[in-house]
Amino acid sequence: MTALAFTRTEADRLPTAEREAILADPGFGNHFTDHMVSISWSVDAGWHDAEVLPYGPLQVDPASSVLHYGQEIFEGLKAYRRPDGSIVTFRADANARRLNTSADRLALPELPEELFVAAVNELLHVDADWVPSGEDQSLYLRPFMIADESFLGVRAAQKARFLIIASPAGAYFTGGVKPVSIWLSKDLARAGRGGTGAAKCGGNYASSLLPTRIAAANGCAQVLFTDSATEDTIDELGGMNLFIVRADGTLITPRTNGNILDGITRSSLIRLAEARGHRVEERDVTVREWREGVADGSITEAFACGTAAVITPIQALIGEEGTLLDFGAGAPGELTMSLREELTGIQFGTVADPFGWVT
Ligand code: PMP
Repeated sequence: MTALAFTRTEADRLPTAEREAILADPGFGNHFTDHMVSISWSVDAGWHDAEVLPYGPLQVDPASSVLHYGQEIFEGLKAYRRPDGSIVTFRADANARRLNTSADRLALPELPEELFVAAVNELLHVDADWVPSGEDQSLYLRPFMIADESFLGVRAAQKARFLIIASPAGAYFTGGVKPVSIWLSKDLARAGRGGTGAAKCGGNYASSLLPTRIAAANGCAQVLFTDSATEDTIDELGGMNLFIVRADGTLITPRTNGNILDGITRSSLIRLAEARGHRVEERDVTVREWREGVADGSITEAFACGTAAVITPIQALIGEEGTLLDFGAGAPGELTMSLREELTGIQFGTVADPFGWVT
């Protein structure tokens, strides 16, 4: 199965000068590389027709299941340019596994992990010139799978397609890491028990857009979602996991309760912190515990984490009643910043990787 051969179109889409202009200031998610990967699947033929194609529009039948029932999943990972010019990926195998967890929940076909990794490597090989070399820059890879059977009946599609596109990404924070305020969403939820919260599917993000807009209107960068059943048990942010740091160096992060995404940055930070001798508690944690801890000084830092920004320090939590907690001049905290430095160092090759995360 892994021996699926990729056919490749090598020709560049954009002239070198245009690519270089983009790489000088890529922003995030605005520009795309010359190529994309496509692998087709059907119930009868399994995975077939693995190709590296010129980047461009897809032909999608208007009756495709993805357009009506949202049968879609995706992943997000980065490739980094090292000081010696080589290109590495970070824990791509973990993204492959998580794609399959999402596929299972969305009744999409599993993609062999080796095929996922091979597809990532094929695209990086053809589009190597698109991996930027500036400070904190990377190439963001977006693997995704859509159900593209032309059929309006509501059942799992019998045809699907896996694709990877890639987009050069600039430094998330320019001019130094800045702590953010986050908005507590009380009435609007992203996930509920038995739902798709732990899957990386488009629908979860569609439902987070309105609360994110409300957050932005209140000066907040992200939304904090709580478990809709308990209302006070913290799940995660719209696109990041959450960590709280106690004064004694203990880290607390919500357990993977079925509502939240099992973040790869989250699991990496747990291992990094434990390797440094910190205690890490994966458990239920409430907004109340967080507020009380900040008020009595036993909680000293908090941060969000995910592939895009690695670690984003949290300064304040704001809700309809106003400011719920505020770290003030204490943000960003010391542990927050040193974990960030170590993880980005491993990714960019300036710090040794004792975990075998980098390929
Ligand atoms: N939670 C959600 C909802 C996300 O979209 C992301 C980003 N993929 C994360 C957490 C962080 O996951 P990761 O560290 O794997 O990027």
